[in-house]
Amino acid sequence: MADPAECTIKVMCRFRPLNSSEVTRGDRYIPKFQGEDTVIIASKPYMFDRVFQSNTSQEQVYNACAQKIVKDVLEGYNGTIFAYGQTSSGKTHTMEGNLHDTDSMGIIPRIVQDIFNYIYSMDENLEFHIKVKHIYMTMCTVFLTCCSFYFPVSKTNLSVHEDKNRVPYVKGCTERFVCSPDEVMDTIDEGKSNRHVAVTNMNEHSSRSHSIFLINVKQENTQTEQKLSGKLYLVDLAGSEKVSKTGAEGAVLDEAKNINKSLSSLGNVISALAEGTAYIPYRDSKMTRILQDSLGGNCRTTIVICCSPSSYNEAETKSTLMFGQRAK
Ligand code: ADP
Ligand code: MG
Repeated sequence: MADPAECTIKVMCRFRPLNSSEVTRGDRYIPKFQGEDTVIIASKPYMFDRVFQSNTSQEQVYNACAQKIVKDVLEGYNGTIFAYGQTSSGKTHTMEGNLHDTDSMGIIPRIVQDIFNYIYSMDENLEFHIKVKHIYMTMCTVFLTCCSFYFPVSKTNLSVHEDKNRVPYVKGCTERFVCSPDEVMDTIDEGKSNRHVAVTNMNEHSSRSHSIFLINVKQENTQTEQKLSGKLYLVDLAGSEKVSKTGAEGAVLDEAKNINKSLSSLGNVISALAEGTAYIPYRDSKMTRILQDSLGGNCRTTIVICCSPSSYNEAETKSTLMFGQRAK
């Protein structure tokens, strides 16, 4: 069993390059970097476990942020990796990137590949059952896509059970068997387009939502009957920007407030964990309830704080960096 003292929260910080519209507008590139763990904005230093400059590759980010957690999950621990930051700061690039390109693929496809490689390298007495779910949370709905793979394909009757008190609304979840990383990516793509159609049909003009990708790994040694199980949540959080900048009103404003509230509840949970407080306010938001058993206790948590380097976004970048500091 896990030693609670081993529970760790790591905070990484990644700056994307200036984009073409920022360059066209004449924005300045504001971060200054010091060593591997410090970034300076407007003369103020912010320290993290690692700071990634704009030219850091997807592979370097994966190696520093995810590789160890994946290893731990395969050894029976639970974990969560978050990407936090304002819209367009590089969260989806970091978590997903290009799912089908070896260089630009992000953390999720690399994890899927690593897990497959691990399975192929193990001896024949180990049976794996891996279930992948994609939960997409807007203000009022949760969409779910999932796929599943068994190695070897001997147990065909493992029942799929939903965490019914956790996921308030589950739609169109079909379990499917896949046997290569590419098939997992195809399932992710398919889930995204189904969800896009569903969201459009419901007139939910949501640009901000949390995307939670769950990988559940169960292993059994058929000779010793020893079992191991670990799960990993990969969370691409909704944009953290303040409502005022977006000029939202009506339902969109309500949704924005709701998103901001769920992000601040997450911040409260993470800083309570970092401080070692006895009471952790998991129940304050739907998302922290879903993630409860993978945050704190038997867990590994990494937060990737994503930032724009542009002078135009300086205020948002500072508030993003402050969020990251609270977790230290
Ligand atoms: P978010 O999910 O935070 O809204 P995205 O990940 O979609 O932001 O990034 C916005 C744009 O910037 C995308 O076109 C993405 O490809 C690009 N981008 C983000 N991070 C990087 C990076 N580190 N290097 C190159 N391009 C990036
Ligand atoms: Mg995104």
